Amino acid sequence: MKKLGFGCMRLPVLSKEDTTTIDLEQMCEMVDTFLDNGFTYFDTAYMYHNYMSERYVKLALVDRHPRDSFLLADKLPTMQLKAQEDVDRIFNEQLEKTGAGYFDYYLLHCLNVANYEAAEKYDCFHYVMQKKAEGKIKHVGFSYHDNAELLDEILTKHPEVEFVQLQLNYVDWDSDEIQSGKCYDVCVKHGKDVIVMEPVKGGNLVNIPEEAQKIMKDVNPDASIASWAIRYAASKEHVIMVLSGMSDLAQLKDNVSYMKDFVPFSKKEEETVEKVVKIINDTTKVPCTACRYCVEGCPMQIAIPEYFALYNEYFRFGNYDRAKQRYDNLTKDHGKASDCIACGQCEGHCPQHLSIIKYLAEIAETFEK
Ligand code: SF4
Ligand code: SF4
Repeated sequence: MKKLGFGCMRLPVLSKEDTTTIDLEQMCEMVDTFLDNGFTYFDTAYMYHNYMSERYVKLALVDRHPRDSFLLADKLPTMQLKAQEDVDRIFNEQLEKTGAGYFDYYLLHCLNVANYEAAEKYDCFHYVMQKKAEGKIKHVGFSYHDNAELLDEILTKHPEVEFVQLQLNYVDWDSDEIQSGKCYDVCVKHGKDVIVMEPVKGGNLVNIPEEAQKIMKDVNPDASIASWAIRYAASKEHVIMVLSGMSDLAQLKDNVSYMKDFVPFSKKEEETVEKVVKIINDTTKVPCTACRYCVEGCPMQIAIPEYFALYNEYFRFGNYDRAKQRYDNLTKDHGKASDCIACGQCEGHCPQHLSIIKYLAEIAETFEK
């Protein structure tokens, strides 16, 4: 398998305000280009694009291409399980929505302490193995957002799992919070394949500070900034797939250009990335990946990732008027940062373990005074 996967979490949309307005025409062109270049792996999930990603995977991929010409990954939303019957109901709904007949890769979505507890409570590991025996799933795994210790515990208890999907990128590799490097080592210890999510950290490793971009361009003037992040992840020996959430055809063509005949990182490139990490960490206020897991349950409809994006931009580039204007525009249709009632719903869902309430207070202080 070529090591680039088509992530269906950030598909092209017709309106940035509404993630369900997926641009089907462009998506079809992207899917076709991806397949034409010899790539086969597609990754979706129940909740992506406000529950519409799976339906568009059917329209753009499943209905238009032979089933044996692509591999499809989908995920059981462990964070939404409230009763035993939810597991089978959701799995069958996913088969219906995608029209795929079976899933090549199926993951328990977003395991952390709370979601792992739910997965055990509702016997999800046993369920997916049963579906594997029935031929509805080819490979069983889970995506993971917690520390290396818990990962070790899960893999010890569940040797039947074939692969783990990890957030892995050059900024998070040594991070105490995300622990990409430590989690990768645990997977290697247990002999598991690794699939990488968030290689560009939700776009944060594309829009890096100019100083960092210059360092990269001095080493390789022709390489895109995104290519550094994707190739970094793909260069890890036990990584079998790197998912990229490509949002338009140009991004897809860029990814395809260097992953078609993939060349692993050189020593010089590894050293360059080490220099860049420090610059990025010094200029990132909120390490949000814009996954939007926090948004759905917010009782005040606060545009959490959008506020964090403009706050980061302000911190990095210092253009207060521009950031304030964007903030004011967003607050016309969403709750303000100061509307937060500190219920904590969002923080419980954030895979990056961000102190969302604290950051919103800072944002209110910055843009509402
Ligand atoms: S803590 Fe604030 S931002 Fe988070 S869900 Fe509650 S109201 Fe919304
Ligand atoms: S705050 Fe956390 S959950 Fe919300 S979009 Fe950012 S990373 Fe995702």
